[in-house]
Amino acid sequence: MGEELSQVRTRFPPSPTGFLHIGGARTALFNWLFTRHHRGKFILRIEDTDIARSTEEALKAILDSMQWLGLDWDEGPFFQSKRLAIYQEHVDRLLSEGKAYRCYCPPEELEEKRKRALEERKKPKYDGKCRNLSPPYPDGPYAVRFKCPQEGQTVVEDLVKGRVVFENAELDDLIIQRSDGMPTYNFAVVVDDGTMGITHVIRGDDHVNNTPRQILLFRALGYPLPYFAHVPMILGPDRTRLSKRHGAESVMAYKEMGYLPEGLLNYLVRLGWSYGDQEIFSIGELIEKFSLENVGKSAGIFNPEKLRSINGDHIKGREPSKLAPLLLPFIKVKGYEIGEGEKLNKIISNLKARSKTLIEMANQAEFFFKGEIEYEEEAAKKFLRPEVIDIFEELIEGFKGMKTMSEAEVESLFRGIAQRREIKLVKVAQPARVALTGRTVSPGLFEVIDILGKGQTIRRLEKAIGFIRDSVACPGGENED
Ligand code: GLU
Repeated sequence: MGEELSQVRTRFPPSPTGFLHIGGARTALFNWLFTRHHRGKFILRIEDTDIARSTEEALKAILDSMQWLGLDWDEGPFFQSKRLAIYQEHVDRLLSEGKAYRCYCPPEELEEKRKRALEERKKPKYDGKCRNLSPPYPDGPYAVRFKCPQEGQTVVEDLVKGRVVFENAELDDLIIQRSDGMPTYNFAVVVDDGTMGITHVIRGDDHVNNTPRQILLFRALGYPLPYFAHVPMILGPDRTRLSKRHGAESVMAYKEMGYLPEGLLNYLVRLGWSYGDQEIFSIGELIEKFSLENVGKSAGIFNPEKLRSINGDHIKGREPSKLAPLLLPFIKVKGYEIGEGEKLNKIISNLKARSKTLIEMANQAEFFFKGEIEYEEEAAKKFLRPEVIDIFEELIEGFKGMKTMSEAEVESLFRGIAQRREIKLVKVAQPARVALTGRTVSPGLFEVIDILGKGQTIRRLEKAIGFIRDSVACPGGENED
């Protein structure tokens, strides 16, 4: 595909009947990447003709999700509910050209016929009772049906699935406008794609069976056919369609769980598209490399562990100062009012290789901000013992005399103490680690001390000494053997 694609126009048309879920986000992403790659236009269209089920809340969730993911659109959002006059014009045109007809069959009668067909194990299909009605028409409500050709075939040349052939005889005279005046999905989507000049329809393959009907409508209305690309569904690990049972579905839930938009997008794109065996992509790289040729034919299986790992890679690769504003809200909900700056950047560069999500990072960062360190019970029992009081006092003296608390200076203080006492470095470091972080596992101790700074380090050591003395004075406390 080359030059002729410079006018690519794609669309993403969610229905605002629920949040934007992972599958929808991937469809939006494929459209967006394809469009950005070809420098085309990406259109957002809200399919809200199901008035009863559409909500403002869902609309907001969709727009927020798109914005958070960075999937910006060039035109829209358009609302189908505001385009009813346009659909009406198109209905009238098909009626006047004899390509559509009024159907007065009462819903109960249709339902009755449908049941009977199912009982006889036939595929239910409208019998064309009103196909040849002519004026004067009966009074009463009517729907409008499209006169579907009954012979021949309709072929979908799908850019992902290849050639899919449908027998027209299998297709119904589908309703294009309901008796309440509302257009149906298949009709509204064709009028929209036609009037908006959409060149590529990229969507989930649950719509493949709608495509022959849409193709026939494009032709009847005289609009050029877009290319179709039907992307396989995302399945859960048990190979059924991804749903709530498989964990969080909504895009915003992933924001709340501390994922980066780039991490989620990178994971989603790989669920259905590949570029050699490369796993990690920046958004810029994706735009450069994305093509429909490399969209796979088989369904992607959602794997939350893989998502975590890819997200971890994106956290690792990000500048601390760029992560800081994203991390702060997660620290804030824990009750700490921290600002951006040198200290936070140091904490982040210290933790980013060991955090898969921003929540994990916030949890791991917490001990830096705590006024009062709580000791893990086992850690305190093992390391905060009377014999380390001396060591802590020596450390405090050493820190007091230090100017910069640089990693090198701190390290030589620890080594000096260990040497003089002829003990291993860990015998000094481990108790200090528990005193300073509350735990036996933490980021590098000397970096931690550098970040905590002199005042906080000394305060924490003093507190630990107090804790040890209290435990000794009060047998039965945590420090008892
Ligand atoms: N509103 C439809 C959906 O969300 C759009 C399908 C299409 O892209 O044509 O499934």
